Amino acid sequence: MPTADVAVVGGGIVGTCAAIELQRRGRAVTIVERDEPGAGTAAGSAGYLAYDDIFPIPSPAIVASLPRMLFDRHGPLVVQTPYLPHLAGWGLRFLAAARPSIVRRSIAALAPLNRLASQAHQDLASRAGAQHYLVRESVLHVFRTEASLETASKLIPTLEREGFEAGIVDRDALRAMEPAIRNGVAGAISFPGSDRCTNPSGYGAALARHFRAQGGSVIRGTARALEPFGGGWIVRADEEELLAPRVIVATGAWSRALLAPLGYGVPLESARGYNLMLGQPGVTPSRTLLFEEDHFCATPMEDGLRLAGTVEFAGLEAPPNFYRSEMLYEIARGYIPELRRDPATHWMGHRPSLPDSLPVIGELPKHPGIIAAFGHERRGLMQSAITARCVADLVERKTPPVDLAPFRIDRF
Ligand SMILES: Cc1cc2nc3c(=O)[nH]c(=O)nc-3n(C[C@H](O)[C@H](O)[C@H](O)COP(=O)(O)OP(=O)(O)OC[C@H]3O[C@@H](n4cnc5c(N)ncnc54)[C@H](O)[C@@H]3O)c2cc1C
Repeated sequence: MPTADVAVVGGGIVGTCAAIELQRRGRAVTIVERDEPGAGTAAGSAGYLAYDDIFPIPSPAIVASLPRMLFDRHGPLVVQTPYLPHLAGWGLRFLAAARPSIVRRSIAALAPLNRLASQAHQDLASRAGAQHYLVRESVLHVFRTEASLETASKLIPTLEREGFEAGIVDRDALRAMEPAIRNGVAGAISFPGSDRCTNPSGYGAALARHFRAQGGSVIRGTARALEPFGGGWIVRADEEELLAPRVIVATGAWSRALLAPLGYGVPLESARGYNLMLGQPGVTPSRTLLFEEDHFCATPMEDGLRLAGTVEFAGLEAPPNFYRSEMLYEIARGYIPELRRDPATHWMGHRPSLPDSLPVIGELPKHPGIIAAFGHERRGLMQSAITARCVADLVERKTPPVDLAPFRIDRF
């Protein structure tokens, strides 16, 4: 049976970064991935490394707006009706996580991870020769109404206290910065410390190439089970098996199935998201714009303008509803009327989401040697490299740079 020092199950952005970091520390690493390593969900993402994104989704304000959102089939959040019963437990935990005391706890957990995420990403990208995919720039969160801008600006002191920069941009300044935005805006909040990934699938592919070039091996197949053997673990994949003393579970939204047989009923759901890639948009903003009330991003990329966002709960198996990609174009045109649609491509992906908006990062309490690294929701591209550092420290039995207690798998 083939062996490795570390088996990384799942070669999405989190698994690939973890594999590279472990390699750097001298470990022989094998990725077990059913598709191409580096080609996971992040490939279709908005490419926005929002280090300042320290606010969990559950909050009193979101709970107040849920009834309106849920009954709007064309709105930013939908639950497909047949999926409703499956979401009950997750939904109740989401409501519990929206209590102000828990929100404060979640901010206190996310902020230290995000503070180290930028440097971790720059280091990893440079080592892999992929730093040209990352552009440091000021991202604008755009608001349609004065009222939402004012509400959001009340969060700036919290951001500043946590060490992040943000500033208000009024309507005229916004129009001067981004003349493509013609309609219906009250202003923006600018986040100067962000990175934009100009080609997320190229970036993932470059990281995977680096991993292979450094001697990393890949088993192509679906991991079906993790079984104890001689103080280590056997990863049983479709046609191959792998024995390793340490296993990283980085299977994104699919992680529940792999861990359930070990007794972990982790409340992980796929918050499905969509993108519409406009090949020749005609007008292009100069930076990532996040339209707050409509919950989507417009990101300039090497091959066009990507509109990405929306949340849909329908599980891992339901076919995509590409109306939700198309919807993004209609909404975007409300802000940027000259935007051209054709040629365009659709995409749907699975954000791995826990009810409190925090990932799971840590060794399994009842299964020493298995380390979980999944559930990064809308922040997986951004948090991948710092997560890699944390799990590599756990493999080496060192203290990680961030307190991982809030990210324990058994916190629910
Ligand atoms: C529309 C949209 C926009 C987004 N925008 C952003 C953004 O701008 N910035 C940001 O930071 N994040 C963004 N995200 C979130 C980000 O893409 C995810 O958080 C991130 O990709 C999760 O990475 P992962 O490696 O954990 O999971 P994935 O990328 O999903 O990777 C999991 C991998 O595991 C493999 N796998 C699963 N099960 C098995 C198995 N049993 N055996 C073998 N292999 C298996 C899968 O094939 C996959 O390659 C966005 C997501 C969506 C949907």
